[in-house]
Amino acid sequence: MCGIVGYIGSKKAEPILIDGLLRLEYRGYDSVGIATLENNKINLVKSKGRVNSLAENEEAQKLIGTLGIGHTRWATHGGVYKKNAHPHQCGNVTLVHNGIVENYRELIEDYNLQSVLQSETDTEVVAALMDMYYKGDAEEAIQRVVRKLKGTFALVMMFEDKPGVIYAIRNVSPIVVAKC
Ligand code: GLU
Repeated sequence: MCGIVGYIGSKKAEPILIDGLLRLEYRGYDSVGIATLENNKINLVKSKGRVNSLAENEEAQKLIGTLGIGHTRWATHGGVYKKNAHPHQCGNVTLVHNGIVENYRELIEDYNLQSVLQSETDTEVVAALMDMYYKGDAEEAIQRVVRKLKGTFALVMMFEDKPGVIYAIRNVSPIVVAKC
């Protein structure tokens, strides 16, 4: 049972994401990662370790973006390796996922995705499809992709050329959005 956090605002996102992930630690996890968007570029830091290992990670501390997403992973598809930790990035799209995409193998075959995938996860298939369908309209791409997914998901996403927005969509798995 993983944890997902997203932040958009005026403060540096990295410590807020880490604090959020620490609060979700009770759910259990095996790896952790965060991504922030700065100067139209998304930077990621992932680790097999605990959330605290990211808090002390110099690469993570260098993330200066004020928009970001974070994830603690409970592996369902693919071993506990850094490459399988979320966020997953494909082209313009970076996302985190809670849940299981049951038809991920069919999607890989139907859309010929094998050559673009770098992890063993069901999640990266969603990122690859999202990037394939993204032509500048994020909501349209999200709607088209989620129609193809079987299973449960909470997805939180950033697009490299959309610096002011975090997108979230869910099926069964919960998401809470708050303004403060
Ligand atoms: N199925 C995804 C994976 O194995 C997400 C697991 C989770 O909810 O943490 O990476």
